[in-house]
Amino acid sequence: MDSGFTFEDFRGFIAQGKFMVVKCGDCNHMFIPPKPICPYCGSRKLSWVEISRVGRVVSYTEVHVPLRGFEGFAPYIVAIVEFEGGVKLPGIVKGAKIGDLKIGLNVLLEFSRDSPSGYFFIITPALGGVSESSGQP
Ligand SMILES: [Zn+2]
Repeated sequence: MDSGFTFEDFRGFIAQGKFMVVKCGDCNHMFIPPKPICPYCGSRKLSWVEISRVGRVVSYTEVHVPLRGFEGFAPYIVAIVEFEGGVKLPGIVKGAKIGDLKIGLNVLLEFSRDSPSGYFFIITPALGGVSESSGQP
């Protein structure tokens, strides 16, 4: 595949419903955002790999002053989620309140055209998450 390993490539995969990250063929590190050179060892032997959409919350915060494009979502929870291979990605945790979040909580990356980034994170009971907020006003 002809790819320059750009953020646009990443967004394109997300739009196709694929969670793809860049993997280094020399040191085996995986990373996002994409770069044409491995940030760990400087190698150019890179390829796209699809990884599991299940990740673990490593940090989170409530945002009241939204980024451009996210105005309709404020206030919202932004979490940094760590995936397979140590890949970390920030995103909105859809339908969550700050009290629902905790470090180490498993979340699922869900593709959505409603999200300016093309995806949300969701808390699902199937992953051991707490989701008692549904059905409440
Ligand atoms: Zn490398």
